[in-house]
Amino acid sequence: MTITAMTEAKTETLPPSTEPPPDDPEQGVAGDAIVLPEFKEQKTDLGGKTVGNIKSENPFMVAENVNVYYGDNHAIQNVSLEIGTKEVIALIGPSGCGKSTFLRCLNRMNDTIETARVTGRITLDGKDIHRKEQDPVALRARVGMVFQKPNPFPKSIYDNVAYGPRIHGLVADRAELDQVVHTGLERAGLLAEVKDRLDEPGTSLSGGQQQRLCIARTIAVNPEVILMDEPCSALDPIATARIEDLIDELCEDYAIVIVTHSMQQAARVSRRVAYFHLGLLVEVDETDTIFTNPRHKLTEDYITGRFG
Ligand code: ADP
Repeated sequence: MTITAMTEAKTETLPPSTEPPPDDPEQGVAGDAIVLPEFKEQKTDLGGKTVGNIKSENPFMVAENVNVYYGDNHAIQNVSLEIGTKEVIALIGPSGCGKSTFLRCLNRMNDTIETARVTGRITLDGKDIHRKEQDPVALRARVGMVFQKPNPFPKSIYDNVAYGPRIHGLVADRAELDQVVHTGLERAGLLAEVKDRLDEPGTSLSGGQQQRLCIARTIAVNPEVILMDEPCSALDPIATARIEDLIDELCEDYAIVIVTHSMQQAARVSRRVAYFHLGLLVEVDETDTIFTNPRHKLTEDYITGRFG
């Protein structure tokens, strides 16, 4: 079923609004800190107010009570979420609700933002990613990232993919490096298109090819998790479809966390969906459940197009 069909079907069968009256003290008042209405299912094992199920069958990355502040702006509030091995989880929600901020917590990219302060605990395969001996660069090899705008280095196609294995010392000699570059390009679905032009600049490729080059660069260092921050928003529909097909293939080997503003895309590529709203993780569940039977009114309003 398409999202439109799902949301239309949903709209017809929606229960009457359960929104509290405007003077309900639980709702807060305009200008106050956001206070979500209380929910029956609000308590999760990890604490917090998320409804649905923040747990994964095979948790690999676990975020517990994560908060992010940019100066005085409390951008992420008490977010807890488990990310499973080899699962695709989509982060959705209105612009500015903290999806990218949360994504960047997972490989400590927020460390690079001077005003950002992160609290809470995040583990990768059971180990705290903020522990003293964790090198953030090594972490970012295990938890790779693909950005909204393709950002190939100003280097050849070959050197873009070879860069990570070289700096992380993953290869012994040129033959091994060649192999890693070829495998990376092949896994990113790009090898056939570039194998005769590996010395040309990465920036000479089309937008969709550049994004697949960035994916090849990410997987060349053997990550375990790939973070994607709206990876298709700068691409045309054909290039988008190729990246989505690629996500389907890559999740056989990697956990993928994807921020997307497209609910259709979330429905196509993900197994679970996390809905963010004003810095809060409101609801997490199986993708079908979120789009056909969301528990929280805020989620329902968003997926039916009444908000956001
Ligand atoms: P989303 O990805 O859902 O659009 P973001 O994570 O980008 O949301 O933003 C969440 C909040 O954090 C917003 O209020 C935004 O202005 C703020 N924010 C995001 N990045 C930065 C930054 N680098 N410096 C300061 N504030 C930021």
